[in-house]
Amino acid sequence: MAIKLLRLAAVSLLFLAAGFSADIPRIEDMKGKTILLFTPHPDDDAFCCGGTLALLTRNGNKVYVVLYTNDDKGSYDPDMTSERLARIRKSEEEAGNRIVGVAPDHLIWLGHHDGMLEYVDSKALVEQATAVIRKYRPDVVMMPDPGPDYVRWHKTDHRMAAMNTLDAVRAAEWHLYFPNQKLQQGLEPWRVPELLFFYVLEKDANVWVNIDPVMDKKLDASLCHVSQFEPGVHKYRPDWRAEDRKKAADEVLSMLRKRDGHYVESFRWATDFNQY
Ligand SMILES: [Zn+2]
Repeated sequence: MAIKLLRLAAVSLLFLAAGFSADIPRIEDMKGKTILLFTPHPDDDAFCCGGTLALLTRNGNKVYVVLYTNDDKGSYDPDMTSERLARIRKSEEEAGNRIVGVAPDHLIWLGHHDGMLEYVDSKALVEQATAVIRKYRPDVVMMPDPGPDYVRWHKTDHRMAAMNTLDAVRAAEWHLYFPNQKLQQGLEPWRVPELLFFYVLEKDANVWVNIDPVMDKKLDASLCHVSQFEPGVHKYRPDWRAEDRKKAADEVLSMLRKRDGHYVESFRWATDFNQY
């Protein structure tokens, strides 16, 4: 017994020394969970978390991606229209998600315009996200980090996606928020047990997912977003020339962090949010 306790103490010390809490789950080992990822645009999910999503679906978790906007503004191509760009971005998002194991019917489009999230009625926006949380009853919600440092340079939709999702997580738990959702749609309150923030500053990260085993999926999913890279941003073309694809792949790789020699995606894991 004493040896067991000593071993336990040693393991706890190791965790503490490494800056881990023993409670932080290994995302790589997560199985059978429902995960709801809120993304500002159809590409952030691949860039922030494509490898992690591929691991989660491989392990039998149910993953849903909720898209706040249709990303219909970010193009310098003078011949591009918002309607056409939204269609392109939707098909890129569907293709990228197929690669990481998320089917098109697991993509939930909230239908807002790119860059305009801040001007949507704020109560309606929280209500909309709250209904999604109550409907899917996720074990984990993934969202941009609303942390005090990062939020300074969040661009508008990212700021809103972070803050609005956090407000919706809070509202979803209490039956007196948006009681019409129960009356009209049969949606019961839902307390989200775990949050996983992405686009996190390295100093705030407490979870690093080793994505080495799925790097091919991470890259392929990211490169489905042809219109988000040059030359497509200035002059859209649906396919890659080999040299452009290589440049874009290098760009994706340069955005990735490495830890102990492995490619990782970093997160800040939190729980008991509503207690603070
Ligand atoms: Zn974005």
